[in-house]
Amino acid sequence: MGWDNLYASAFERVRANIDMVGKVLLAYNTNIDAIKYLQREDLEVRIEKAGQEEVLHYAEELPRRIESVPQLLGSILWSIGRGKAAELFVESCSTRFYMKRWGWDELRMGGQVGIMANLLGGVYGVPVIAHVPQLSRLQAELFKEGPIYVPKGEGENLELVHPKEFKADEENCIHYIYEFPRGFRVLDFEAPRENRFIGSADDYNPNVVIRPEFEEQFEEIAANAELAILSGLQALTEENYRGPLKTVKAHLDILEEKGIPVHLEFAFTPDETVRKAFVGILGKFWSVGLNEVELASVMNVMGEKAIAEKLLASDPVDPIAVTEAMLKLAKKTGVRRIHFHTYGYYFALTDYRGEFVRDALLFAALAAAAKAKLGDIRNIDDVVKAMDVPVNEKAEGVGEALTKVYDMENGIAEVNGYQLAFIPTKIVAKPRSTVGIGDTISSSAFVGEFALR
Ligand code: ADP
Repeated sequence: MGWDNLYASAFERVRANIDMVGKVLLAYNTNIDAIKYLQREDLEVRIEKAGQEEVLHYAEELPRRIESVPQLLGSILWSIGRGKAAELFVESCSTRFYMKRWGWDELRMGGQVGIMANLLGGVYGVPVIAHVPQLSRLQAELFKEGPIYVPKGEGENLELVHPKEFKADEENCIHYIYEFPRGFRVLDFEAPRENRFIGSADDYNPNVVIRPEFEEQFEEIAANAELAILSGLQALTEENYRGPLKTVKAHLDILEEKGIPVHLEFAFTPDETVRKAFVGILGKFWSVGLNEVELASVMNVMGEKAIAEKLLASDPVDPIAVTEAMLKLAKKTGVRRIHFHTYGYYFALTDYRGEFVRDALLFAALAAAAKAKLGDIRNIDDVVKAMDVPVNEKAEGVGEALTKVYDMENGIAEVNGYQLAFIPTKIVAKPRSTVGIGDTISSSAFVGEFALR
C-alpha cells in the first residue's frame, strides 16, 4: 500500500475513535504570547530615546537577564543582526511596564500545556485537565471552547471547570515576542533571516512554579485522568531544579500507581545537570518525544559524543544513527516508547508491537501539515485538508536505507527486540505558521495511539 493510502486510512480510524480517549492530564507550562511585529521607525525612535550608545553595547553581547530598557532594545538588535532567536528573562518591573505600554499586535496561547490543551480539547474534543500556573483573565480568554478543565477549590469541593469559569484573576505571565522579517533593517543592522527575540515577563513558568492544588491534591486530580503529558521543564537550571524535580517525581509515582501512561515532551534543555536528571527519571515515563537536536543533547550527557555528532551531521538526519541513539536511550532508561521527529520523517521505537503505532504517527504528520498549511486547525476535519500536501521526497532515501538495514516493510521493522515504526512526513512548502508544531506532532501521536488501541 502506498503512503497516501496509509495516511488516509490512519486519519479515518483516528477520527472514528478519538472520542474513546479519556481525560488527558497536561502539566506544567501555560503562558500568554504577545507578538509584536517590529517597525523600523518606531524602533529607531525608541533606541534614540533610551540612549543609542548603551543600547549598541548590548547588541554586541547579550546580557544574562534584562534589567533595563537599553538592555531590552540592545538584545532585540542582537537578534536582528544575527537572525538568531534568543529568549531572556525580564527582571525589572519598569522594563515590564515599558513592554506592556509598547504593546502587541496579536495575543496567542503560549506554553506547551496551553497549546496542547487547545489542540486536544478545543480541536479534537479530547477532555484535558491543564496546569495553568497563573490564570489571569487574559490567559483564560486564550483557551478555546471545549472540554478543557482546570481544578478549582479543595477537598470535597474540588471541581473541574473551564479556565473561563475559574475567575480568580491571577497574574499575567507574558512572553513578549518581537518578530522581524528577513532583510529587516534598523540603524546598521540587517536581519539575514526572519526570527524573533523573546522577553519573558513571567516569574512562574521559567521556575516551574506548581499550583497548590497540584501539590496538595494531585491524587484527586489524577484520579480523573487516563493519560498524562508533562512538559515545560526545559528552563530549569542547576540552581532551581531540585524543588520542581521532587514534585515531578512525586507526581510520576502517583501516576504510575494508577497505571496512567505518561509522555514527556522533551524540549531543548540547555542546563546539562538538569538534562542528566531527566535522563535519570525517564524510566518512570511511558513515552518521550524529541527532535534531532534534543536527541543529540541527550546522547551528549550519556557520554555518546560520536553518535551525537552523527545526528547533527546530515540533512535529512541519518536514520541509522537515530535508531542507534534511540536504542541506547531505551535500553539505558527503560522508557517504553521514543517518538523522534525531524524535518521529513518520524520514528517511534516501542517495546510493544502493532501497526497502530505507525498509524498514530501518520495522523500526527497530517495534523502538523494541516497546522503549517492553515496556521490554525479549527476542528478535526481540518486535518484532512493536508491530504493534498505531498509526501516529502527526501524521505525516500531514508525509507530505502531502512529497508536495506532493518528489512523494514510498510514502515515497520523489528530491531534488537523493539519495534521500529517509520513514516515519511508531508512538508508544506510555504507554511503559514510553525509555532508549536512540535507540540502538535507529539500530542497528536501519543493520544492518537491510545485512540487506536
Ligand atoms: P518547535 O519547537 O518549533 O515546535 P520542533 O523541532 O519540536 O520545533 O518541531 C518542528 C517539527 O515540525 C519538525 O521536526 C518537522 O517535523 C515539522 N515541520 C517543520 N516545518 C514543517 C512544514 N513546513 N511542514 C510540515 N512539517 C513541518
